[in-house]
Amino acid sequence: MRLISLLNHYQHFPGFVYEKARHCAQSQTIEISVRPRRGSKPVCSGCHKPAPGYDHLSLRRFEFVPLWGCMVVLLYCMRRVNCRACGVRVEAVPWGIGKHQLTKAYMLFLAHWARKLSWQETALSFRSTWDKVCQSVEYVVHWGLEHRQLGPIVAIGVDEIQSGKGHKYLTLVYQIEQQCTRLLWIGQERTTESFDRFFTLIGEGLAKQIEFVCSDMWQPYLNVIAERCSQAIHILDRFHIVAKMNAALNDVRAAEARRLARDGYEPVLKKTRWCVLKRKANLTEHQRFRLRDLLRYNLKTVRAYLLKEDFQQLWEYESPSWAGKFLDEWCRQVMRSRIGPMKKIAGSLRSHRALILNYFRAKKQFSSGIVEGLNNKAKLTMRKSYGFRTFHVTEIALYHALGKLPEPDVAHRFF
Ligand SMILES: [Zn+2]
Repeated sequence: MRLISLLNHYQHFPGFVYEKARHCAQSQTIEISVRPRRGSKPVCSGCHKPAPGYDHLSLRRFEFVPLWGCMVVLLYCMRRVNCRACGVRVEAVPWGIGKHQLTKAYMLFLAHWARKLSWQETALSFRSTWDKVCQSVEYVVHWGLEHRQLGPIVAIGVDEIQSGKGHKYLTLVYQIEQQCTRLLWIGQERTTESFDRFFTLIGEGLAKQIEFVCSDMWQPYLNVIAERCSQAIHILDRFHIVAKMNAALNDVRAAEARRLARDGYEPVLKKTRWCVLKRKANLTEHQRFRLRDLLRYNLKTVRAYLLKEDFQQLWEYESPSWAGKFLDEWCRQVMRSRIGPMKKIAGSLRSHRALILNYFRAKKQFSSGIVEGLNNKAKLTMRKSYGFRTFHVTEIALYHALGKLPEPDVAHRFF
């Protein structure tokens, strides 16, 4: 009886009473029978209005938040109503949702922990199963997506993320304002069609209010932005430019190292990868020494490295026109360098010149940092989740972790 008054204190359902509690030591389960309060009318699950009773269904079990390591189960015989508007329907009960075996409170509880632990760990910690954790997250995410407010949206960032093995990608769209950074949308693939669907979701009204868009140089994204969001300042992501340049530099280094080895020269480029790729300030004492040593050689790698280092000055400029002059001069120099991969970069920077300079027009307020940070969190979520085989499950996991979605209200939070 003590247990029931305790339960009434924390979780009381109007129109219902706890009848008796039974503890089964063997299965470590507390079973609590629930019955309707005398004279209370059942509520139709179709229209959520009270309706005359029709009959009873057999006893159903609803899993509740565990107590003292015991499973807690509510036992209740659902009534059916004869509703004027909906016909014969099962009643709606305040602790349950539709056909779910778990109570609302327990689903919120599991979903809460599934944000901190992996789903598997959550299932193990509360003696539940991966499927039930998944159901809980799904419920919370669906509710959140239905009840979230999308607009106004001032700045968005779009990026792709690799999913699973092989060249499979997802397109992620983030809102990246200082007051609000969250995942807005996930699309399968990274095609024009998939990114286009985001703009269909938010509608033309909201799309026309967007002032800034950050993206990488992926052509399908550029096309969609130009078409759907032409009024926004489109900024090419600084992080992606630097990443591309590093990739080019590494190609140069690897090819040259192979050539030196083949021609029987001293392996001066061995283990220099991070010396040339890391930022100077981040080098270790030993790496700094190696780099100083390396710079004495007349190697393509060294010339490419110096070009890359030189390029970093671009970000220091304030005025778009001076930044533009610097960029043009840098590209001219690279084009004369006869270093293939670097020339390719310069060519691509030239063709995206206007978008790169938009970074300065936007007064540098939307740098890649935010998108990159969110993307790292997304990758972490996917890594934590060795069960996300399907797109649908990956989708709800990402929304759950990064969507900042509203959550259903409950009388008492058990976490
Ligand atoms: Zn009804």
